[in-house]
Amino acid sequence: MILLKLNKNNYFSQEANRHYMSVSQFKSFLPSYSGCEAGAMASINGEWERAHVVAFDEGHYVHAWNEGTLDEFKADNPHLFASTGKTAGQLKANFQHCNTMIETLESDPLVMKALDGEKEVIMSAELFGIEWKVMLDSYQPQTGIFADLKTMKEMDGKFWNTEIGVYENFIDHYGYNLQMAVYAEIERIVHGRDKWLLPHMVIVTKQKPPDHDIIYFDYDAIEQGLHIVGKHIERVKAVKSGAAHPARCEKCDYCRSTKKIKTIKHFSELKFY
Ligand SMILES: [Zn+2]
Repeated sequence: MILLKLNKNNYFSQEANRHYMSVSQFKSFLPSYSGCEAGAMASINGEWERAHVVAFDEGHYVHAWNEGTLDEFKADNPHLFASTGKTAGQLKANFQHCNTMIETLESDPLVMKALDGEKEVIMSAELFGIEWKVMLDSYQPQTGIFADLKTMKEMDGKFWNTEIGVYENFIDHYGYNLQMAVYAEIERIVHGRDKWLLPHMVIVTKQKPPDHDIIYFDYDAIEQGLHIVGKHIERVKAVKSGAAHPARCEKCDYCRSTKKIKTIKHFSELKFY
């Protein structure tokens, strides 16, 4: 297979997703990250499109600011603006709040230091026997770090992991540790270094007023993250290549919308979590 050459226009395309594994695609196969093999395959094959979520636009808005392309982003997305009523022509309230989140980041010197460098850097390399693609939000190899920018509801809270029966923080729950580990490893491979850059995450919350933080990951965290990917990768590869049949979770949007009941449940089979 001739590999597709990645650029900013095709990075998120279906073709790129077929050719390359990404961290979000990997997680979309795993139930422990709310993924589903059947849903992941339907999405890769173009049979299923995930519902458009406003939260994605908010994330893109803040990322466009980091990249220095916010004006173009606003011009390309008229739906960010109110079209009727007294506020017609103005940014919708949630995107005005994104501006507040951006101001929060801009007014913290350490955040601006962490987000400095080259923006939206695309890399690809072979890892665990398949090609991966990554996009680094901010890249400073000379300082020895890279940073990923995250917008999220809040940083508090614990999440119940039904698979292993423990509470997790948001880093483990959303697999951000895997993401940072794979990014560090791909960057290391591409540049033929024996040491990793230190992954940083700059987080800004959608709370009013927003909270923000910078979190870094050390070498132990990178090793653990890669270990988790290694544990699941053969199954994901087998399903993606068509060698194994994708399992249905019967819970996700895709499974619910294509569900056919095969057996009638006894009332005592219902689970509470
Ligand atoms: Zn499913």
